[in-house]
Amino acid sequence: MAALYRKYRPQGFDDVVGQEPVVRTLKNAIDAEQIRQAYLFAGPRGTGKTSLARILAKALNCEKGPSSHPDTDCHICRAIAAGTSLDVVEMDAASQRGIDDIRDIRDHAVLQPVEGRYKVYILDEAHQLTDAAFNALLKLIEEPPPHLIFVFCTTDLGKMLPTVRSRCQTFVFARPRLPELVRVLRWVADGEEIEVPDAALALVARAARGAYRDAVSTLDQLAAATGKKITVQDVLQLLGAVEEEALFRLCDLIVDRDTAGALTFIEELSEQGQDLGRLVTDLLEHLRHVLLVQHMGHVPDSLPVTEEVRERLHEQANQLGESTVLRLCDLLAVAVDDMRQGADPRLPLELALVKVTRPAADLSREATAYRLEQLEERG
Ligand SMILES: [Zn+2]
Repeated sequence: MAALYRKYRPQGFDDVVGQEPVVRTLKNAIDAEQIRQAYLFAGPRGTGKTSLARILAKALNCEKGPSSHPDTDCHICRAIAAGTSLDVVEMDAASQRGIDDIRDIRDHAVLQPVEGRYKVYILDEAHQLTDAAFNALLKLIEEPPPHLIFVFCTTDLGKMLPTVRSRCQTFVFARPRLPELVRVLRWVADGEEIEVPDAALALVARAARGAYRDAVSTLDQLAAATGKKITVQDVLQLLGAVEEEALFRLCDLIVDRDTAGALTFIEELSEQGQDLGRLVTDLLEHLRHVLLVQHMGHVPDSLPVTEEVRERLHEQANQLGESTVLRLCDLLAVAVDDMRQGADPRLPLELALVKVTRPAADLSREATAYRLEQLEERG
């Protein structure tokens, strides 16, 4: 079976997830017949850079084109989608980065396209090309024959030579937001007849941190392991992740200053097989979200949360004092440090919970300062 992310690769501009500004600009350029000859697509891995480069190639070479709505169905579009078009050359600069590979491009790029209107060279991980290779390409980028188009894709814009950057139109790809990613996962799940609740898809999307390809691959893996019936529990088990519910509950216990409750809860999670190291890092991430909401006064769109979680986050940001969040972050950072040295995170985690729920028991200078801040916040 082909990997799901290949099967569900976006085929037209309108299938692309979470890159509206890039898509809009490219479509407008095609409609206005103002095609540039060198593009630079920059952004995190798995955000659809090479997929969009292929769609651009289709738009330009489609039998019924050039069009911002290529039919994706003629033999040229199909060949491009399958990676067999003679006019669209995809190279991975991580492995084909030497001067010989570039000479090869130079020799072939000047030839007329075989069946399309343009020859499109897609160079993935372009920042890995050697300087010599780039310099060999420069003249071609500066004075390209009219049928030649370059699309450089990179995960590291800072490493691209300025001389190349200045000759390209640059597009920066964003990580898709959580709801967008969940929508795509739902589309794939329905297409594959996978039974899975939205909450499980949200977990998959959250763990992928905006990487479309990683999210779909995880779904693929889960579907295979569960016979296409995925539960929230399956996802948590595979990812070792902590359910959001648990993070909220732990913070609620801190709001209530319920030391015994918090320690018992940790005990329960541990007995259920929860990796406490993962709990510490997920709790820190949760607190970071709370902190952002406290300082911005609203839940920023960039946070990977569902609508339902959004409201709870807002509520918890109001309940947890700012000083408590900061103090807890400091204490958990110690646990993370200990973990890096190979120590068990359990004791520092428990200590952190005791210290924030019972500040009077902690006589350190930081704790005294924390208690003072608490008094001020209440006053
Ligand atoms: Zn076509």
